[in-house]
Amino acid sequence: MFESLSERLGGVFDRLTKQGALSAEDVKTALREVRVALLEADVSLPVARQFIKAVEGKATGASVTKSVTPGQQVVKIVHDELIAMLSGDGPADALKIDNPPAPILMVGLQGSGKTTTTAKLAKRLKDREGKRVLMASLDTNRPAAMEQLAILGTQIGVDTLPIVKGENAVQIAKRAKQQATFGGYDVYMLDTAGRLHIDEVLMDEVQAVRDVAQPRETLLVVDGLTGQDAVNVATEFDEKVGVSGVVLTRMDGDGRGGAALSMRAVTGKPIRFVGLGEKMDALETFEAERIAGRILG
Ligand code: GDP
Repeated sequence: MFESLSERLGGVFDRLTKQGALSAEDVKTALREVRVALLEADVSLPVARQFIKAVEGKATGASVTKSVTPGQQVVKIVHDELIAMLSGDGPADALKIDNPPAPILMVGLQGSGKTTTTAKLAKRLKDREGKRVLMASLDTNRPAAMEQLAILGTQIGVDTLPIVKGENAVQIAKRAKQQATFGGYDVYMLDTAGRLHIDEVLMDEVQAVRDVAQPRETLLVVDGLTGQDAVNVATEFDEKVGVSGVVLTRMDGDGRGGAALSMRAVTGKPIRFVGLGEKMDALETFEAERIAGRILG
């Protein structure tokens, strides 16, 4: 088990004399502990450094009120700064899906949870916003993935584009757009193929699909447990295809959520949703408060 940051800091400050304001020395000592906590939570080193710098400026000289210990004061400053960095600007979950049919492009590596997330999001749009959604799998290399989306569609009561053998991803995207237009759908979701690693073939295909579909939203699905890798994947996808938001999956696992902070700090992209399990309703909007709590332990 991890020791929580509050516990760590409690120990540090017990050894220091209590003062009316946090001294530079106190802050430095405390921030060493904060740094360890961030790294344990899988925040990348450059982001941890950047974060510590921001906090150092705010904490040095901050007055310690009678009701809190210096440790609690530092935790509060760290907590507030985490929220500020994680939440960025404005509500993250409002998807741009006016002017029907609105295309949503789902991208990510194989195994990240892309197909599952596509179905979860479709269900959410249907149940919560009353949208008519059409889902299409573009994964021509893996017939099983296409079948999987069809099965999930039946399970959640969302239509999927019929599978036609021999079509390429761009042809499927065009057919999805047609069916969504003539079928009166509000949204159509394109579940693109993933690969185990980023490669040129994959990126070329996703770019071609993007150019045809002109997506209103391009959501990148990444495994939240993969830490720094998740950030690298996001950077690449954003450079090559442009990403409007991120979905972090497997946040029901043991991870401490540091990937969220790194993701936000490095890519500047909002995290829109988090996946919290395999079930179709295990998708929640991203809440900075909850992730901050998790990182702090
Ligand atoms: P894809 O290859 O990216 O389309 O990945 P899939 O959607 O097929 O998901 C791969 C596996 O991860 C499946 O067994 C999913 O049930 C599981 N999965 C997806 N999202 C989550 C999540 O948020 N939490 C957990 N625990 N499992 C997930």
